[in-house]
Amino acid sequence: MERPRAQAKALPGGTACDGPCGPVTFHADVTRASPKKTAVVPDAGTDGPPLASFEGLGLSADVLSAVRDAGYGEPTPIQREAIPIILAGRDVMGLAQTGTGKTAAFTLPIAERLLGGPRRLRALVLTPTRELCQQVEGSFRKYARHTRLGVASVYGGVGMEPQERALRDGVDVVVATPGRLIDHLERGNVSFEWLEVLVLDEADRMLDMGFAPQINRLVGAMPRYRQTLLFSATMPPEVEVLARKYLRRPHVVEVTRRASAATTVRHAVYPVPRSRKSALLVELLKQPEMDSVLVFTRMKVGADRVVRDLEHAGISATALHADKRQAQRDQALAEFREGRIRVLVATDIAQRGLDISGISHVINYDVPAQVEDYVHRIGRTGRAAQTGDAYTFMAPDEIATVRLIERVIGQEIERVSVPGFDFG
Ligand code: AMP
Repeated sequence: MERPRAQAKALPGGTACDGPCGPVTFHADVTRASPKKTAVVPDAGTDGPPLASFEGLGLSADVLSAVRDAGYGEPTPIQREAIPIILAGRDVMGLAQTGTGKTAAFTLPIAERLLGGPRRLRALVLTPTRELCQQVEGSFRKYARHTRLGVASVYGGVGMEPQERALRDGVDVVVATPGRLIDHLERGNVSFEWLEVLVLDEADRMLDMGFAPQINRLVGAMPRYRQTLLFSATMPPEVEVLARKYLRRPHVVEVTRRASAATTVRHAVYPVPRSRKSALLVELLKQPEMDSVLVFTRMKVGADRVVRDLEHAGISATALHADKRQAQRDQALAEFREGRIRVLVATDIAQRGLDISGISHVINYDVPAQVEDYVHRIGRTGRAAQTGDAYTFMAPDEIATVRLIERVIGQEIERVSVPGFDFG
């Protein structure tokens, strides 16, 4: 079936958008915390400088062979920039979203640094969500597969005991959400005495989620002389404060999403009355190329309702939100990853950190309330070698928010009207 993109109309801003309006450009808006050196690296583009190879970054044969096993040809810009600096022991502040290869940018050099040392907790990664926790743990396992590095992840919503056993058995790396890690610290299951590297991953998200007191508590229990790496998609003042407090003369690496967004993601807004959103979703899902679709809703009840509406139309879908038990969330993610479910309907818990390669489409069933959330949500699609479409369903009362998103990202997004669904 022909993709229903139909007539493009004049945009609310007054500019006619004739056909696909082209991709959106992102530039992190950054005020830097007196960095030692700043590198602004364009995301993997075709017209940038030739990419260095992984071999030139200072990684050893064991780690390089895991990189080859992962099938990566060249380092992404943030990897090229950050890996040698991290290997040299410097603090790094990385401004990069999910999808830029930022996880490997810190897991690879940390795995390298820890090779061959005694088994004790030497690297800790703090993440905002359990999903990101599992993903970072998976990344360590992937890159350390030819080494003897021990990794454990620690997050809430599941029993303490298996984590307790893993910690007591001895690990080199812990990936944790802050609250659960404090529980383990208080029970004496973990000690930071030998900690060499601390990573604050998705720092903006952790602060958004109110983790500042827990982070402060945890860092207070760590050795002062350590390497600290902070990664954040945005740099609001609170993250700057955190960086000033915990990083020593950080080297700032900033990756704009310019090229990757430009080459891989097509954005569109579908004006649609709120009451017709599920029907529009069903209509769009008739397209066979929509084979792996992540749908975002603002509320948990909204996610459940969308799943019900889809099932009513004969489309199987699964909801992923905080009311689901961890086992259910894990199962939903696994099935989506393996292609056994085609549509995953998620609230913001899935928004960042999720690495589900091969998503064909992201659909904002509700316009995200925050502009940053729009950027993060579309970060789920359009990864390195793939294409992805990001569609936003806009009800009349959401027009102002879409305009705000367009102002902040500096580009108008194509309007696509589907006959029978638009609000004219
Ligand atoms: P991240 O930004 O860490 O969420 O990574 C996004 C995705 O890019 C993950 O699926 C990684 O496996 C993948 N990736 C990381 N580094 C590379 C690379 N150098 N080449 C190709 N894919 C990569």
